[in-house]
Amino acid sequence: MPGGATTAAADPIILEAIGKRYETASGAVQAVDSVSLTVRAEEFVTLLGPSGCGKSTVLGMIAGLVRPDAGRVLVAGVPCVGPNPEQVALVFQDGGLFPWRTALDNVTFGLELRGVPAAKRREIALGLLEPMGLRGFERKYPRELSGGMRQRVAIARALAVDPKILLLDEPLGALDALTRIEMQSLLESVWQEEGFTAVLVTHDVTEAVMLGDRVVLIEDGIVKLEVDVPIARPRRRGSPQVAALEERILRHLFADGGYTQRSVA
Ligand code: ADP
Repeated sequence: MPGGATTAAADPIILEAIGKRYETASGAVQAVDSVSLTVRAEEFVTLLGPSGCGKSTVLGMIAGLVRPDAGRVLVAGVPCVGPNPEQVALVFQDGGLFPWRTALDNVTFGLELRGVPAAKRREIALGLLEPMGLRGFERKYPRELSGGMRQRVAIARALAVDPKILLLDEPLGALDALTRIEMQSLLESVWQEEGFTAVLVTHDVTEAVMLGDRVVLIEDGIVKLEVDVPIARPRRRGSPQVAALEERILRHLFADGGYTQRSVA
């Protein structure tokens, strides 16, 4: 099958010069312009950039939710033509939990769709909720949980189906600063434990450096900087190494005296 065969060695995500242009009432917006990126198996990549720079559009194209109008997206070596729930799970800023389902039943949702027997579903869900500090909260409804707890349930729900790739779009963006820091280390431990490939969108430089094996800085729809983060985990917030990398990224971000959204009339 030309272009459709999976190879064992395929990198989980390959973006080949992808582009996306939106036509809007006030003109066309080149949201993403010729972005190329390869994400290796079990790598944690953070997509960093200011609001409106095209991060979510890139993530949406990897998820198969947004169709590129230039270039190609390969997921597990196969051209992406739409959502791929077998391989790819998503977590958004608003976890999107079902309000009528308990925490446990939210986590088991994807397993129900796959016909996994009830006892097994429960075992998998509890196995994810417990290390996330949600023991005793399984029967609570989303409205009874704090923002941080809701996002933990959302992450557990995404991981319940054992995806190869987890895409996270500002998953911690709505949390208070302290909960956000706590959730960053939780996310790191879950990733280390479960061994999936992660791509996280953020506009927080520290978050990008603390979590990423690699930080990809996007500005005006293009990759402005790609930098490896060779700092041993767990990383220490405020350590000289972390601070130096943050400084380097910030220098790039503000190099041209600020950033703007790319817009073509
Ligand atoms: P980010 O995630 O970095 O905030 P987005 O990918 O959401 O950026 O958006 C990039 C640009 O594309 C912005 O100018 C945004 O307004 C525009 N955009 C995103 N989605 C749409 C859409 N569905 N229709 C029109 N314009 C869009």
